[in-house]
Amino acid sequence: MLFKSVIGQEGVRDQLIHAARENRVSHALLFHGPPGSGKFPLALAFAQYLNCSDRGLEDSCGVCPSCSKAERFIHPDIHFVFPVVTGSKPKPEPESDLHIDKWRLYLEAKPYPDLQSWLSFLKAENKQAQIFKKEAESILHKLHLKAYESDYKVVLIWLPEKMNHTAANKLLKIIEEPPDKTIFLMVAQSTDEIIPTILSRCQLVKVNKIPDGVLATGLSERFPEQEQIIKGIIRQADGDYLAAMNLIESDEQNKIYYEHFVQWMRLAYGFKILELLEWIPTMTTLGREKQKEFFIFCLRMIRGNFHMNREVRSIIRLNPEEQQFAERFHKYIHPGNIEDLHNLFSEAVRHISMNANPRILFIDMSTSIHLLLQKQSLQ
Ligand SMILES: [Zn+2]
Repeated sequence: MLFKSVIGQEGVRDQLIHAARENRVSHALLFHGPPGSGKFPLALAFAQYLNCSDRGLEDSCGVCPSCSKAERFIHPDIHFVFPVVTGSKPKPEPESDLHIDKWRLYLEAKPYPDLQSWLSFLKAENKQAQIFKKEAESILHKLHLKAYESDYKVVLIWLPEKMNHTAANKLLKIIEEPPDKTIFLMVAQSTDEIIPTILSRCQLVKVNKIPDGVLATGLSERFPEQEQIIKGIIRQADGDYLAAMNLIESDEQNKIYYEHFVQWMRLAYGFKILELLEWIPTMTTLGREKQKEFFIFCLRMIRGNFHMNREVRSIIRLNPEEQQFAERFHKYIHPGNIEDLHNLFSEAVRHISMNANPRILFIDMSTSIHLLLQKQSLQ
């Protein structure tokens, strides 16, 4: 991974490169910040940079033997540690190395990894992922061997908060006093869940969310054919690369939900019973997961319209088409009904999860929406 493959984050990059060039790299760094900001690719690019034999002022060379191995995730001095799950025939203590081939394939596809998609990749969505005690033993073993060929031995720990206590305790001493030229790079979703004794031994590297414009440019360079979609989703993505990718993928689905939302609001506002009864079956046949998604979509629309009503446009997360509808609709969503509307859709998500009858739910909700939209604004 080259730094230039990371979207934005030049500030953090410069800080890391400066430390490396001055030989002042702390022996344990912890990258933290919001999801999809690029913590992991930054750490990966830094691991490569540390060992590149022809470092530039802004990036690794990308072609030296060390870079070539780092880019394929097979560098013998860059060790990966990541959460894993026990198999169906449980080996009591699985470790990252058992899954390293899958991990490399996964990283090829997902340079910005996230736990949920990693578990899907392992076909283990419903399991608890952990970094087990055996992992700590394996790290200690690797670090007591000499570096094979590079300046630095790097241990890149993805999600240290998933480390169990025994593993963490076994690693404390080596993180505090690692062998010469050994560097721990940790990438955490949240510092709150990291065992404090580990946290206190790390220098923190804060990675901020990506500014909208930077994310838009970065995505358009990577996916030029999706440029229109990217323009449409960028505000909703709110500086989160992972959210942006999900939005691009679900853009089609969102268009469908948007059309349903608009139709539902029109029919409910005018209380057009016959048309409502015709429309409701298209929703009840969707299946519960999609119905839940639809209600969550409605919540976002309601919030967006309320923000427009309150003229706090800077936080509106609607795409241009949705915003066009909101230009007319927002006057119906105001302080006098926002709370009830919000509760109505949140409760609907809960009711669907609890196997409520969707037909009755949609009919009841249509009545409530009618009454709430007819409410006058208090101010
Ligand atoms: Zn290089």
